[in-house]
Amino acid sequence: MYVEQATREQLQQWHKELTTNHQSFVAGGLNLDLTRGKPSASQLSLANDLDGALKGNYIADDGTDTRNYGGIDGLPGMKALAADILGVKAEDILVGGNSSLTLMYFSALFGWQFGFTGPTSAWRNEDKVKFLCPVPGYDRHFAICEELGIEMVNVPMDDNGPDMDVVESLVRNDQSIKGIWCVPKYSNPTGCIYSAETVERLANLGTIAADNFRIFYDNAYVVHDLTDDPAELPNIMDYCRKAGTEDSVLQFGSTSKVTFAGAGVAFMAASAVNLKAMKNHLGIATIGPDKVNQLRHLRVISNVQQLRAHMIKHAELLKPRFACVLDHLQKNFADSDLGSWSTPEGGYFISFDTRPGLASEVVKLAAEAGVKLTPAGATFPYGKDPQDCNIRLAPSFPTVEDIDKAMAVFCNSVKLASVSQRLQ
Ligand code: PLP
Repeated sequence: MYVEQATREQLQQWHKELTTNHQSFVAGGLNLDLTRGKPSASQLSLANDLDGALKGNYIADDGTDTRNYGGIDGLPGMKALAADILGVKAEDILVGGNSSLTLMYFSALFGWQFGFTGPTSAWRNEDKVKFLCPVPGYDRHFAICEELGIEMVNVPMDDNGPDMDVVESLVRNDQSIKGIWCVPKYSNPTGCIYSAETVERLANLGTIAADNFRIFYDNAYVVHDLTDDPAELPNIMDYCRKAGTEDSVLQFGSTSKVTFAGAGVAFMAASAVNLKAMKNHLGIATIGPDKVNQLRHLRVISNVQQLRAHMIKHAELLKPRFACVLDHLQKNFADSDLGSWSTPEGGYFISFDTRPGLASEVVKLAAEAGVKLTPAGATFPYGKDPQDCNIRLAPSFPTVEDIDKAMAVFCNSVKLASVSQRLQ
């Protein structure tokens, strides 16, 4: 279907057919949800061995009694595992509670309030504080900035990550830019993997940015591959060491989508300077993280080999769901001018771009037909997609059967919105 070249008669005919489809979907009373990227119950069940894993033995290999207070930076065993996941040394790791988002929030809050290198480095001292936000991106990153009053600046993304020409020029010319959000592997929502050149140029930003600039490098999907021969993400710290910019990067990760999304283990990796600041301030908020949960995790997944074997089981559950979405998109839109989409090899999302100005209308039409989609604009700072075209599809949670029904509604909604727009 090419709406650009279609005659008015053709468009009117399509409009009639698509409206009939839409009405039959509405009458069908569906109640489906393609919004949040959370694991399905079957995925969560893969980690059910966590229950009872300790068998009454709460003592970690290093002798720590995990039931007691303390250990602000985590059990040595968990630090070693997190270090292997993020490609750093165990001494560079701080293990948190169940959420990496909390660690990101605290990092931004501490950067704002206290500064990573003492009070003069606190962002709140400055007239204006800005973060670069590669778009489309993760709404919860943007919410952190909004909460702290940090101004967000959109940066376009392509298949290699953020447009680094734009990033470098902004950072070079504006010292009020104090950070950038990055999801370097299977980016949320486009699914791209940052190229070696992008990672190297990110690592070099520390040489041109303000001293208190920090890259928030959220590696949420680092082990979440859907293919047998996953692409490797180059190690940003290798480049930082070359450039002498180790202090400019804060890395984050968690087992939220490895074990239990609500009861996993989160961690961050950073330089000694940054970790010291984090521990100082975190140590006021807590006497220590949940080490019992860390130990449970280590008993079930004690090394990266076991982790990878576990992630293959996740991939088996996720692959047919992603395939179902992509199949619908391919069949409906490959031969069309109605939209473009990403074909990710991992992560949790598929990103779809409608013709400009139609994402909100598609979301509205799908909602009328009983399919909840992520609100249009959610993937942009302040909820404002300047082109109103991006929609994030999250296929992990529903069954394949439900995805199949939801995608039929989605595709019809895209077509109906596109044809209606051309008829105006
Ligand atoms: N970072 C990204 C990019 C995500 O997509 C998500 C969840 O969807 C999170 C972080 C949340 O991680 P956590 O559960 O560790 O807080």
